[in-house]
Amino acid sequence: MPKKRKAVDFRELAQKCLRCGLCTTVCPVHQVEADEYTAARGRNLLVNQLKGKKDFDRNFRRRFEKCLLCGSCLPQCPQGISIDLLTLGVREEMVRKKGLGLPKSLVFRFAMRDRERFGKILSTACKLQRYLPAGEGKIRHLPAFLSGLGAGRRIPEIAPVFLRNEIQEVSRPPEGIAPRRRVGLFMGCALDYLFPEIGKKMVRFLNRQGVEVVTPMEQGCCALPVIGAGDMDTAKEMALRNMAAFQNLDRVITGCATCGSALKDYDTFFHRASNGRGKLADFVEKVRDFSEFLVRDLDLSPQALASTEGWGKSLRLTYHDPCHLRRYQGITEEPRRIISSIPWVKLVEMDAPDLCCGMGGSFGLSYYETSKKIADKKAAAIQETGAEAVVTTCPGCRMQILDTLRRHGMQQRVLHIVDLLEPDEN
Ligand code: SF4
Ligand code: SF4
Repeated sequence: MPKKRKAVDFRELAQKCLRCGLCTTVCPVHQVEADEYTAARGRNLLVNQLKGKKDFDRNFRRRFEKCLLCGSCLPQCPQGISIDLLTLGVREEMVRKKGLGLPKSLVFRFAMRDRERFGKILSTACKLQRYLPAGEGKIRHLPAFLSGLGAGRRIPEIAPVFLRNEIQEVSRPPEGIAPRRRVGLFMGCALDYLFPEIGKKMVRFLNRQGVEVVTPMEQGCCALPVIGAGDMDTAKEMALRNMAAFQNLDRVITGCATCGSALKDYDTFFHRASNGRGKLADFVEKVRDFSEFLVRDLDLSPQALASTEGWGKSLRLTYHDPCHLRRYQGITEEPRRIISSIPWVKLVEMDAPDLCCGMGGSFGLSYYETSKKIADKKAAAIQETGAEAVVTTCPGCRMQILDTLRRHGMQQRVLHIVDLLEPDEN
């Protein structure tokens, strides 16, 4: 885990900037858009020039929206400026001064805050999605008239049955396998609504390792999209609900790098607004990425992984490091250790596996053209390896990489790490 960061006033952070420009050399957005204000240095300057509410105009807002929060600039900065926290602080201030706006209020406060209502909205959307142009498998194209959502982007189909309706609240190891741990599963929106098969495979694999999996149904979204929009009051409400849902469990396992990073940063995001750090810190301590849990907590032997069923042939694959796993959680070795232990798999590293894929949550939808340019470098690096498949641990990266490969006419499979451990049902 990287050193714990402290949330501090964004104005104080910006004043520390030396204007050395080291951040500009690594910022994926700055590299495809020659605009000084897309990198940390330019944003610090904008903050230092802030005088009043009128400065939060459209240009200012767009410049602060155009950060992937990828963290690439964090290790470069000699002043240790957390540009992600600075950016979030600015967005929060904009919401305080100018409001959230109707579309975001509807999405975050009306829909995402209430899990039951959000589920009903997505169920209806699932029925309507049959009118969208179909693409490959469970992927659809957004038509051009939905330009606000990224014209032409491939999006995963909303699952007809959500993960919460497919699994038991308590899933126990099969008969004959001695129970050795009891953990909670954090589904997050991606596994619950888009990729329930990933969640089901995680549960099956953990059960086979003697792990009882409890999935509290009161849990909701990790709140990162809401934090990213600067609506900290709504986000805190959502975070407290998640903490209450897992209060009787001593491990919270997630198969989404973004959710994992959000949950592990609850103490950074919310400590100012809470009665002390204690409960937040206790919760944060329990959170584990799926790969981290297998390697660090279960200490799975190579033999346990070697027993995973192959696909009838050896597979040459490459691994993409999600920003939220590598930079915010410091997890790089664990997924590689798992992949390398599987005898029918050959891991070939791509050039710069940690290069951001360009998704960045809603960034990839709002700024699809920029997002595509960033992702094109990832496609070239994957092609270079000659791999037949790409593995990652973040559903957002998976969606972006699949979109990118197919845009380039590349046919590699894009997998979650659990796809290597558990075969598909049927
Ligand atoms: S690396 Fe840090 S100190 Fe240097 S310009 Fe960027 S934000 Fe400022
Ligand atoms: S977090 Fe990423 S996108 Fe944002 S300024 Fe830093 S390098 Fe650029």
